[in-house]
Amino acid sequence: MADGEAAQQGARQSTLRASNLGLVLRTVCAADRPPSRADVAARTGMTRATAARLVDALVAGGLLAEGERDPLPRRGRPGTPLLAGGRVAALGLQVDAGLLAARVLDLRGRVLAERLEDGDWVGSEPGPTLERLGRLAATVLAGVPAGVRLAGAGLALPGIVDAGRGVLLRAPNLGWHDVAPAAVLAPSLPAGLHPLLGNEADLAARTVAETAPGRAGPHRDFLYVSGQIGVGGAVVLDGQVMRGSAGWAGEVGHVCVDPAGPACRCGSTGCLEQYAGRHALLAAAGLPRDASPEVLLDNAAAGDPRAGAALDGARRALAIALAGVLNVLDIPTVVLGGHLGRLAAVLRPGLEDDLAVRVLSARWRRPRIEAAGADAAPAATGAALHTLAGVLADPVGWLD
Ligand SMILES: [Zn+2]
Repeated sequence: MADGEAAQQGARQSTLRASNLGLVLRTVCAADRPPSRADVAARTGMTRATAARLVDALVAGGLLAEGERDPLPRRGRPGTPLLAGGRVAALGLQVDAGLLAARVLDLRGRVLAERLEDGDWVGSEPGPTLERLGRLAATVLAGVPAGVRLAGAGLALPGIVDAGRGVLLRAPNLGWHDVAPAAVLAPSLPAGLHPLLGNEADLAARTVAETAPGRAGPHRDFLYVSGQIGVGGAVVLDGQVMRGSAGWAGEVGHVCVDPAGPACRCGSTGCLEQYAGRHALLAAAGLPRDASPEVLLDNAAAGDPRAGAALDGARRALAIALAGVLNVLDIPTVVLGGHLGRLAAVLRPGLEDDLAVRVLSARWRRPRIEAAGADAAPAATGAALHTLAGVLADPVGWLD
């Protein structure tokens, strides 16, 4: 064989090995129960010897770990269960008008360290707010166990972002526009760690579609509605967040439900978030804007007419906006997050009835409303998941 051919063959083999390492890692991460080396071979179509060799390399590199063997196997010799490793992690950051969050998530989906800070950053200055987030991130990173490597960082922002340029173009409720957060955060972060920007609702939706890095959640097709100070949204089809042509899809909070309605911070009128956003709902119920959604529920349960009317107004506005999305996109499920998730039990019956009337296909498949989990900062987790997806796609660079 000529030298050139040998070099080419070597390159092909190393590319093949790299892609097989990724396949084995993703197979273990995707499994509901920890698989054995034999399970990995069966699921990937590799020989047992090849699968075992690749697993060993990933275990040695800390991307996979071996669990305890089952002492009482149902049949045959027990295989060693394989888990995603805990030595590679990502930093997820989130800025919302009512919350700052920093969280470190490992490849197994465990939170290694986190800090959440409630506050009111409506109409805030970007510089000091991001510096505050940087200090939060530095504190969190100082709490990460030794030996854990950071694969990267992500930053969730409540507005439209240009991820390629790393610029937040506009976040109506923060009152920010044309902000480049990386430069402000850099002094607080390890050298070379540049957060990837993403939209808050897109990243929060990711935690419903992907319950741990590489593991699919219970829903593949859904609309996620993020109840924050405003209302964000993300469309997820076949487990993937729909980006749209520029990455700006899903802004259901700025769907107009009544052109004669109140002015919105975005410049339009009668947007969904003017009825279902947290501040709007609380104001309509005669509550201060730092009141919790549970106070609203208590007041409504006690027969307070303003609380009841506020919830009715939010439900009617949601029905109009959501029916539009469901009719256009053929989506069976809406997942409510943030304060809307906390109000879901009260909103669900009337909202599902309204959608059954407004969605053309409801006769054959009634739209369902579900509540997201209780996590106050799902977009911080989503930002970390987004970063760890890069490790799952190409793990070779992360092997020791
Ligand atoms: Zn608006």
